[in-house]
Amino acid sequence: LCKFFGVSRTTAINAYRWLEQEELVATKVGSGTYVKENSPLHSETFQIPWSQLFIPYPQTPMTSILKELVSTPYASEIISLATGMPDPSFYPLDIFNSLFKKYLCATNPADFGYIPTEGYQPLRETVASMLSQQGIDTTPDRTLIISGSQQGLYLTSKVLLERGDYVIVQSPTYIGAIQIFQAIGARMLILPEDNSLNLDILEDYLIRYRPKLFYIISTYNNPTGQVLTEQERRDLLRLAMRHRLVIMEDDPYSQLYYGEKPPLALKSLDNSESVIYMSTFSKTITPGLRTGYLTGHPALINRLALEKQYVDLHSNNFSQWLLNLYLKQGYYEEHLKFTRREYKKRRDVLVKTVRRYLDKEISFDVPDGGFYLWCKIKKPITSARLLQEAIKCGVFFVPGQAFYTVPSEESEFRLCFVTHPEPVLVEGVKRLSKAFELIHKN
Ligand code: PMP
Repeated sequence: LCKFFGVSRTTAINAYRWLEQEELVATKVGSGTYVKENSPLHSETFQIPWSQLFIPYPQTPMTSILKELVSTPYASEIISLATGMPDPSFYPLDIFNSLFKKYLCATNPADFGYIPTEGYQPLRETVASMLSQQGIDTTPDRTLIISGSQQGLYLTSKVLLERGDYVIVQSPTYIGAIQIFQAIGARMLILPEDNSLNLDILEDYLIRYRPKLFYIISTYNNPTGQVLTEQERRDLLRLAMRHRLVIMEDDPYSQLYYGEKPPLALKSLDNSESVIYMSTFSKTITPGLRTGYLTGHPALINRLALEKQYVDLHSNNFSQWLLNLYLKQGYYEEHLKFTRREYKKRRDVLVKTVRRYLDKEISFDVPDGGFYLWCKIKKPITSARLLQEAIKCGVFFVPGQAFYTVPSEESEFRLCFVTHPEPVLVEGVKRLSKAFELIHKN
């Protein structure tokens, strides 16, 4: 038995002794060891020790600050500038309703049965042509419909990375990606965000570590709002090609620009199939659709589809059907125009109000698009400390450490400016300024 389980005799004897001490078993000399009549091992109330059953994480995961924040029960009067969520009052429910009424019963019921893992074919076609209009040269069979970008990040990491592999990430970057890399046991090499892409550090990493992937939010990074210039995009691709580096381009925000259009996606400049591109309708329409899309080399799409099949067979086809109609009938473009206009106003109000009330306390760069204002506290106050006081004053944000691969004492934080209308943003900033006052008083 010891051989079978791969344990030594001493371990087995110690285990028996422990069971005896705990009065779970009794030993009868000459007969053997028996589970005791009243032992909890017999009992119907015996509880499975769930936390002991999970396979160990390759790396200790950081506590999920975002998850905790979102699930912390809070009174409705607290203003949350934490979660990256569109304004729910902008969700196009009336249009969805009319599309359902008009088309649902006329649709072939088979469209709502099991469908191919790669996605609802009409949506694959519509998305491929939308991507082509955005400069990304793709076809329906190179397009995979996914259950949000989060799934794209997970599946891609799952098929490309093994424990111990190196991945380059911007620092700071999206927490959801950091956590996937950690869970897989990949080693992250960080590329500091100093207003430009540091190609020297990048090349050094490529030569020294031969990383498998570079994960990048090329346009309106979450949390910093930074955008790669067109030149940086070209230089990066040249370097990637030279070193056979795969780039995972995560692009949920590029359609939400508040001034000039941003440069075209890395994928649109990619002549060597180095880039895996993914985006989502979560930020532009509603996260509840749980629908995103990914495009890349056909071999990758095939492998990802296989992996996706293990996870969910295919993404929700009611959402896919609805989105296809929504896109085809031109509603998406209209909606994007509307949200750009509204979110720009919100960004401007937040920037103005922060300058008015918090100029002495924080510095920031004005983002040209996306959802977030990335703030740096000027005085030596950590954002965790600020959050403590902010919650007392009735406002929430995400402390900066959530976006770093190594938790640190830092003084940055992220404010999301799209979820609430202007007056709520103004009130949120006033509360934040009260939180600073409380800190200075103590
Ligand atoms: N990538 C980035 C950069 C994000 O900000 C988010 C959402 N916060 C996601 C991926 C996940 O998006 P989805 O809802 O499409 O899964």
